[in-house]
Amino acid sequence: MKVGILGGGQLARMLSLAGTPLGVDFVFLCQAHDACAATVGEHLHARFDDKQALEQLAAQVDLVTYEFESVPAESVEYLNRQLPVYPPPQALATARDRLHEKTLFNELGVKTAGFVNLTSLEDLQQAVATIGLPAIIKTRTEGYDGKGQQFIRDASELAAAWEALHGVPAIIEAFVPFDREVSIIAARSVSGKMAFYPLTENEHREGILRKSTALANDPMQKLAESYAERLLEHLDYVGVLAIEFFQVGDALLVNEMAPRVHNSGHWTIEGAETSQFENHIRAILDWPLGSTALLGHSVMLNLIGKLPDNRKVLAQPHAHLHLYGKDERPGRKIGHITVCAKDEAAVSKTIRAIGEV
Ligand code: AMP
Repeated sequence: MKVGILGGGQLARMLSLAGTPLGVDFVFLCQAHDACAATVGEHLHARFDDKQALEQLAAQVDLVTYEFESVPAESVEYLNRQLPVYPPPQALATARDRLHEKTLFNELGVKTAGFVNLTSLEDLQQAVATIGLPAIIKTRTEGYDGKGQQFIRDASELAAAWEALHGVPAIIEAFVPFDREVSIIAARSVSGKMAFYPLTENEHREGILRKSTALANDPMQKLAESYAERLLEHLDYVGVLAIEFFQVGDALLVNEMAPRVHNSGHWTIEGAETSQFENHIRAILDWPLGSTALLGHSVMLNLIGKLPDNRKVLAQPHAHLHLYGKDERPGRKIGHITVCAKDEAAVSKTIRAIGEV
């Protein structure tokens, strides 16, 4: 079996690290010279819209998946005319546009913060009258890790905020004073079998995920699973889907979904019986999905911008270091550490010993 992946970053790399023991080979289409997945598969060095490269990929692999949602829709459709592309293109089209995804969530009875599509400054002014302040303007596409967002506290900031968009399609949504942020990682196979991981609590700083904690028997698990199931079924989804929620009281408001393996599921490599990466490969090949059961208490810490002292991390019991082979750069995800142990106190002790990473 040979799987093509659009993208050659750390998610592609971890997919290959999970799929290789199952006898699956990987080809990555990625324009970056220093694609960090290149060491764990074949690197087709080209742009996503390079027809010749897409042909070359299609000729080599059994099916195609992708590691991020900004791949051009035309490239995905072009490939999908020749071989299966999972998750299905309709899921990608929905997930890449905040307006489309939030509209779908509401149609399926999945709650979100109030939002309004913006086409003019008048829209923006009216929207604020409806949803209130503070609020956040978000570009409809290409925004991730807080990029493309403007926080609005006061109506006097609206004209400048509209200017700053330069006509880029955007929505405005109400600021949610959430109790916590959680996400669910779900998988659905070609033949429709589903699996759900235990919820993860996520902590962000400057819009970037810093820490994820796997939650055992969380009271919100059932609700999150029922929302995920609705989306998986509706989209005839295949592969891993991540959904991020704001929890307010006993309600879950969806922030966004990602049609791919997700940073908040990295703890599953050591912390679950089957990792999200392996289950994505199993799902797209229509192999039986693996158990998502917890193996203990798990906390994942992202390494942002700066590499840690390897010796310091590895000297700690229960610490698993993952470096993506990327250079240090401010704000860049270059690795993560998962601390996983049967005993919760042992996890906390290791995290304290590792210190601020
Ligand atoms: P996003 O790019 O939409 O994933 O947003 C990144 C992070 O910004 C989220 O994980 C939240 O911590 C914060 N955030 C985004 N939207 C909202 C909102 N409507 N209310 C409160 N916080 C938000």
